[in-house]
Amino acid sequence: MLDTPVKPATEAGAPAAAPAPVETDGFQLVIDALKLNGIDTIFGLPGIPVTDLTRRMQKDGLRVISFRHEQNAGYAASIAGFLTQKPGICLTVSAPGFLNGLTALTHATVNCFPMILISGSSEREIVDLQQGDYEELDQLAIAKPLCKAAFRVLHAEDIGVGVARAIRAAVSGRPGGVYLDLPAKLFPQAMDAAAGKASLIKVVDAAPKQIPAPEAVKRALDLLKGAKKPLIILGKGAAYAQADADIRALVEKTGIPYLPMSMAKGLLPDTHEQSASAARSYVLPEADVVMLIGARLNWLLSQGKGKTWGGATSKSWGGQRFIQVDISPTEADSNVRIEAPVVGDIGSCVKALLAGVDASWPKPAAEWTGAIKERKDKNVAKMAETLAKNPSPMSFQSALNVVRDIVKANPDAMLVNEGANALDFTRSIVDMYKPRKRIDVGTWGIMGIGMGYAIAAAAVTGQQVIAIEGDSAFGFSGMETETICRYDLPVCIVIMNNNGVYRGDEKNPTGGSDPSPLVFVKDARYEKMMEAFGGVGKHVTTPADLRAAMEEAIRTRRPTLINAVIDEGGGTESGRITSLNPTAAKKKA
Ligand code: ADP
Ligand code: MG
Repeated sequence: MLDTPVKPATEAGAPAAAPAPVETDGFQLVIDALKLNGIDTIFGLPGIPVTDLTRRMQKDGLRVISFRHEQNAGYAASIAGFLTQKPGICLTVSAPGFLNGLTALTHATVNCFPMILISGSSEREIVDLQQGDYEELDQLAIAKPLCKAAFRVLHAEDIGVGVARAIRAAVSGRPGGVYLDLPAKLFPQAMDAAAGKASLIKVVDAAPKQIPAPEAVKRALDLLKGAKKPLIILGKGAAYAQADADIRALVEKTGIPYLPMSMAKGLLPDTHEQSASAARSYVLPEADVVMLIGARLNWLLSQGKGKTWGGATSKSWGGQRFIQVDISPTEADSNVRIEAPVVGDIGSCVKALLAGVDASWPKPAAEWTGAIKERKDKNVAKMAETLAKNPSPMSFQSALNVVRDIVKANPDAMLVNEGANALDFTRSIVDMYKPRKRIDVGTWGIMGIGMGYAIAAAAVTGQQVIAIEGDSAFGFSGMETETICRYDLPVCIVIMNNNGVYRGDEKNPTGGSDPSPLVFVKDARYEKMMEAFGGVGKHVTTPADLRAAMEEAIRTRRPTLINAVIDEGGGTESGRITSLNPTAAKKKA
């Protein structure tokens, strides 16, 4: 029934002489509404009731990237939103497809990425009476608490409004995930083509500028000016805002040391002399005034309190005074007192702050910057020593030393990163040189974003992608190697293979034949997965071979999977978040 073509407009009853009215339908209106609003790429997975929609999208010039699992398509859409400031679109079938996409939609919302999950759904009347339809599920109700906004369109003439509202909700204010429910019956609904066209909305000013109040800007500047040990923290909201030149100017003109959160790395090159990354554990407790730009005081910043910040106990305030630049007015005071909230879009806020920084701005005292430099130099030297080692089997560090050089030589490449130890070590070892080049596990610290992010990064930017994956993390989305080969994307996956979760040497304590729940097949040949689909697979055990394999992948731009065998005893449990493990946390307390 869904595949029934739109009936020709002239049917019995029409007066012979009348011109044939031209009709359109729900399928077409969805496509036209998206195209009208500059959407050019759809990440999804076809099936009932959206199969024809994907066909017709492609026919009409949209790029449809078809995945093997909706969660990966959803993650792709979410990061496409982060990279482009346009909502990333994920299209799924009903019930299970919708639920698979929902994880990514929630992820988008939590990370403040604009995304729209469009799912087909079953017949409303049957779902509401719970009469047992094909893939029956009240999707709208389920999506609502997990995203920023959720809408359902029942009539073809409302598609324009539905898409416009979804776009506005996704990108305006604090960006986030939006669910758009399109019941199967909507797609073949016919309507007059001219009326259909007139019903569509081209969204004007979807993410309106939000100019900060002058008194809020002054309050922030006064506090910052009076600081003895100021610090700026840049978060992924700052990276999202695409206000790169002004952010850099603000940091450089004030001379204040800064810390980039992981997806803000490269906003200024990590080698910048004002970067305090290598002295993080020194600057957080020492700083007296901290300006957060697009970064939240969540768990990634120890909620702004506790020992990380120099507090006496794990819950106490370290004495820092905070300025927070954020688009969300309710973000301030969520963990500690924010003395100077600056509410607005980061572009406008940074511009306004910059206007108050002139040649008379008091540069931070040499005592502060000097002390930071001393720590940095010491830590960098220590790191260089570790990186220079060449143990056999490879360590995370000796392998990542290669990745560090390759990224330095290819600063435009996109770096995808997930895992536990593979994440922590990469974040601290591999310097980034340009904005929005590092995309990773984000606010939740999740596994599973890898291949979805890699595919979207390649599709959206056209750049070479390097994905540094833990062997466990890769497993969540590894089947998408087929997608990478199918679309022939320039993705080079490097698996830091230590045979397990965290490490690969755990044993079953009972001595039974089942392996430990934390280990995988020993010496798994992941590279053969890529070969199975026509890509390039490499199995490497030395830094020299890893380097050669990565260089070849980048030179040829072919889909490549490098299985980098590293010491199975190399990782620590949970990487750097060991303290979040209940047993470890209990021991500590
Ligand atoms: P990180 O994890 O890098 O610290 P977060 O995701 O915690 O970053 O914080 C990002 C913050 O940036 C959120 O509070 C969000 O409201 C804010 N934000 C996102 N986009 C913008 C924007 N364009 N202008 C202002 N603030 C923004
Ligand atoms: Mg591992």
